[in-house]
Amino acid sequence: MTLSLYNSLARKKEEFKSLVPNAVGMYVCGPTVYDRAHLGNARAVVVYDVLFRVLSALYPKVDYVRNITDVDDKINAAAKVNKEPISALTKRVTQWFHDDMAALNCLNPTHEPRATDHIKDMIAMIEKLIANGNAYVAENHVLFAVKTDSEYGKLSGRKAEEQEAGARIAVEKYKRDAGDFVLWKPADADDDASSMFDSPWGKGRPGWHIECSAMSSKLLGVNFDIHGGGADLKFPHHENEIAQSTCAHKGSHYANYWVHNGFLTVNGEKMSKSLGNFTTVRDLLDKGIKGEVIRYALLSTHYSKPLDWNEKLLSDSQKALDKFYRLVEEGLPPLPRTTQNPILDALADDMNTPKAIALLHENPSLIPQAAQLLGLFHENPKDWFMTPTEDAAAIQELINARNEAKAAKNFTEADRLRAELVALGVTIMDRPGGITEWRKG
Ligand SMILES: [Zn+2]
Repeated sequence: MTLSLYNSLARKKEEFKSLVPNAVGMYVCGPTVYDRAHLGNARAVVVYDVLFRVLSALYPKVDYVRNITDVDDKINAAAKVNKEPISALTKRVTQWFHDDMAALNCLNPTHEPRATDHIKDMIAMIEKLIANGNAYVAENHVLFAVKTDSEYGKLSGRKAEEQEAGARIAVEKYKRDAGDFVLWKPADADDDASSMFDSPWGKGRPGWHIECSAMSSKLLGVNFDIHGGGADLKFPHHENEIAQSTCAHKGSHYANYWVHNGFLTVNGEKMSKSLGNFTTVRDLLDKGIKGEVIRYALLSTHYSKPLDWNEKLLSDSQKALDKFYRLVEEGLPPLPRTTQNPILDALADDMNTPKAIALLHENPSLIPQAAQLLGLFHENPKDWFMTPTEDAAAIQELINARNEAKAAKNFTEADRLRAELVALGVTIMDRPGGITEWRKG
């Protein structure tokens, strides 16, 4: 079977060929651990989790690296606001991230390097860039000189100067060119000691971009197969990763395939921490919404397109999963004996998750095939329907009202309330003695 992926670098869908036979290396930019993951962050994790599952079905060996950025300006700022040590903040938020992604049925990556464990690799790479004439030291900073890289902009089609465009801040005097970006920055006087590292340029910390370049080459080599991340990382983050890596490792090309997932939007606007229009994964889990429902909702749209998040998307996802779990509970027809795997076919075609889901609706006997590849249907159906849902209290109120209507012989009202319950996906079972049991699905 061939896998095809839309390669942002080639700007077209391409047949995937791994650098070495039977093995794939994939790097995906991981979280900066300063706060809870929101649904936009979760979308990227779920998308590349599906790609990891598809690759694992097709290749005997898959090295999936997803880093933890545990040194960053945002972390320093959050630790100062919380008045807590940086190590306590990053440890807690990393655990939150692991818990929330596990609730979404995401597999652990093969490697999960922490930036703070690779400072030496970053310093070595920066030294190489200075030696190669691609970086310079100015006022305790080390900067990448974008004009030294003739290929700069090949991923995004954008120019280095745009890094500053729109930011409306004066270009720092120590930069030779506005587009030059930081590889190493000096520590502030009031920084937590755990965010300061010794370097040939004084105490400080690495820039964000160099973290990914250093960790990916350390774990996957200077050339590897797939690099993934959100579309918002294409510029400048991924462009800068390419520049650093190809200039430090002369003759290398860095990642062969670049995969970018689209934004998660709310009312058409990108969900982001800075816009304040975000919902965290934990907010939804705490409301009683199952991780699988969130995951299904995230996979219902093709990964490359924007996905608008709303209540209807969640309730449609809940209804669809209820339907599938009911079919599993009733006993699915056995899978015909065949070597064909239409779900894998759909996913191998540039991760076409909406098509895979449509196939499931047409032929639910594919559920066992889909379970592993999509990371769904992990629950026992009995547990699925027993778990209290967010609307349990409202459902009980409707049932009570219906029982009262029945007692008052107001059957029109009782029927209307029953129809309302059915519309909510509730099955009512009237038991002897006026007891009404109910379940979702
Ligand atoms: Zn990165």
